[in-house]
Amino acid sequence: MTTTTPSKILIVEDEILAAENIAKHLRKQGYEVSGIVPSGEEAIARSTELRPNLVLMDISLQGSIDGITAADRIGHQLQIPVVYLTAYTDSKTLDRAKSTNPYGYLVKPFKFENLRVSIEVALQKYRDEVVKEQRFAEQLEDSQAELNQLKRLQEEHRSIAEGLSQALKNQEFSLYYQPRVNLRTDRIVSAEALLRWHRPQHGTVLPATFIAISEANGLIDPIGEWVLRAACDQLQAFQESGLKNLSISVNLSGSQLKLPHLHVQVERILQDTQIDPRFIELELTESTLIEDMDWTVKQLHALKSLGVNVAIDDFGTGSSSMLLLHHFPFDTLKLARCFITNIDCSPKDITIASSIISLAHKLDIKVVAEGVETQAERDCLQQLGCDEIQGFLISPPIPAAQFLNQISS
Ligand code: C2E
Ligand code: MG
Ligand code: MG
Repeated sequence: MTTTTPSKILIVEDEILAAENIAKHLRKQGYEVSGIVPSGEEAIARSTELRPNLVLMDISLQGSIDGITAADRIGHQLQIPVVYLTAYTDSKTLDRAKSTNPYGYLVKPFKFENLRVSIEVALQKYRDEVVKEQRFAEQLEDSQAELNQLKRLQEEHRSIAEGLSQALKNQEFSLYYQPRVNLRTDRIVSAEALLRWHRPQHGTVLPATFIAISEANGLIDPIGEWVLRAACDQLQAFQESGLKNLSISVNLSGSQLKLPHLHVQVERILQDTQIDPRFIELELTESTLIEDMDWTVKQLHALKSLGVNVAIDDFGTGSSSMLLLHHFPFDTLKLARCFITNIDCSPKDITIASSIISLAHKLDIKVVAEGVETQAERDCLQQLGCDEIQGFLISPPIPAAQFLNQISS
């Protein structure tokens, strides 16, 4: 059984008989009467002390604080709803009373029925307002939290951008290498160069944190040039260590692809490092390729004419995969990790992968599966005729020295 606590009402009325009458009636109706006070001063003092749920306030009270002033303080400072009890009043007084935003008026003499209705309407209005205010406060809190989060992100973004602007000069970048294994020979045939930023006081930072920011700040072009040169230098060192047939793939960003002199830059790096271009593959993701197809195709032909290979990265994650295959003769297609994870348990992914592999082979394109983590995934891809795999099953991306150790062992 639920019991509701009765609403507490304070009566402010200097006609003591009338007040007693109201109190008696209220008690009969199940209200708790917090008290009867005859002046504005006492009304404020009692309301502060007893915190009633509602105050019935006679407008015309004797003393230095009249009913309207008392109601104003009780309403605004104590947030207690006030219902005025008023006899005939002039319009000036009524305007003053209105300006205190009361929860109701009862014109004396009133029927007790109306008293109850006025009290209940006022209490309900007050409860609705409290709920509304709470909701508003919650929304405000949520917006504040979102704003703070946004500020934190902005600050982090700014700090990363500032750090990045010095990173090249301070030699804070390095390349890690992740092997690619040929599924027919079971040998490492290639490595993908993946950028790492050794940010002071932050440790090693992954590209997901900083590539987009470096693109937005125009820093990706010099960084990308550094990556290609560092990868070619490293390939030369690998070749000198005996890895004569190893290829290296390098990721290019969309912003690099927009550079009109990109092929000149690539050609110069190849010449400077004396690298045979057929050992270099440039990886481009679908999303960067479709921005301006005519320009992209021109750029890709210019790059390919240098003798390097061109790969389409994360194949299948964009919406224009087929369009890209139609427009450009890619050498390699890297099947996105989302089709590879648990492929052995997913007939749907098997169908997708096998269709892509057969389509690619008909177009004379090599297929590399990305993100292979389990032997079961590898076995499945081998059965489907996939050419190469890359993923944690073979090795995560590792520094060059470690890569050399691994390949030699
Ligand atoms: P991506 O080119 O698709 O590179 C593959 C990403 O998958 C790498 O993340 C690699 O560490 C991760 N990976 C490889 N095998 C597995 C696996 O078995 N499981 C899982 N869960 N992940 C695997 P990373 O190094 O964090 O690079 C992320 C992306 O950043 C790259 O995706 C590439 O788009 C971009 N990126 C990396 N280096 C460069 C760069 O030098 N220039 C540009 N423009 N982008 C780069
Ligand atoms: Mg890649
Ligand atoms: Mg990829």
